Amino acid sequence: MTMTTNINRLLSYLDELFPTAKCELFYNRDYELVIAVMLSAQTTDKSVNAVTPILFEKYPSLDDLNKAPLEDIEEILKPIGLYKNKAKNLKGIVKDLIEKFNYIVPSDKEQLMTLPGVGNKTAGVIRAEIFQIPDLPVDTHILRISKRLKLAKKDDEPIDVERKLKKIIPEERWIKSHHQLIHFGRYFCTARSPQCENCKIRDMCINYLK
Ligand code: SF4
Repeated sequence: MTMTTNINRLLSYLDELFPTAKCELFYNRDYELVIAVMLSAQTTDKSVNAVTPILFEKYPSLDDLNKAPLEDIEEILKPIGLYKNKAKNLKGIVKDLIEKFNYIVPSDKEQLMTLPGVGNKTAGVIRAEIFQIPDLPVDTHILRISKRLKLAKKDDEPIDVERKLKKIIPEERWIKSHHQLIHFGRYFCTARSPQCENCKIRDMCINYLK
């Protein structure tokens, strides 16, 4: 089977399984999403969603967050792990948004990536979610699935996989596919117990065939 056939089968299957997949992080304002995505590194959206409502209720504006004591932010972020570093990044993001970007989240990728704790993946998620700018950032789920389905090589880094997926998935589907692939990895093709016996594309999968 060709790569085009495989990708078309995967995309159809994702439409069947997760037709309305979308970002699962809670946020009301653009800067809240920036903070939530930064906080989600190496943890689950669910655990981030457990702390951000507390944080944003206690400190409801960028100015409030700017004035908040670092120790208090650390205390609120404690349950999500790496909290000292994440609290430091949060304070840095808030300061930069106020001082460098006049309280407005920039849409430019390079500018976003100057914010502490914001790398290529985080910037891509923010641009797609807030500005609807097509992007297909690769997280741990998308990395795993792409390798299982032979869309990427075993040693590929997320940035290599992002480049490969962007070549084979039409640009108008990048944002949707990003969310659908994450849902597929989170709820179906999980790291430890994928539902292989129910999977309609298992004939494409090295994880099933090996
Ligand atoms: S066969 Fe299993 S590991 Fe492979 S894509 Fe399907 S659920 Fe994932």
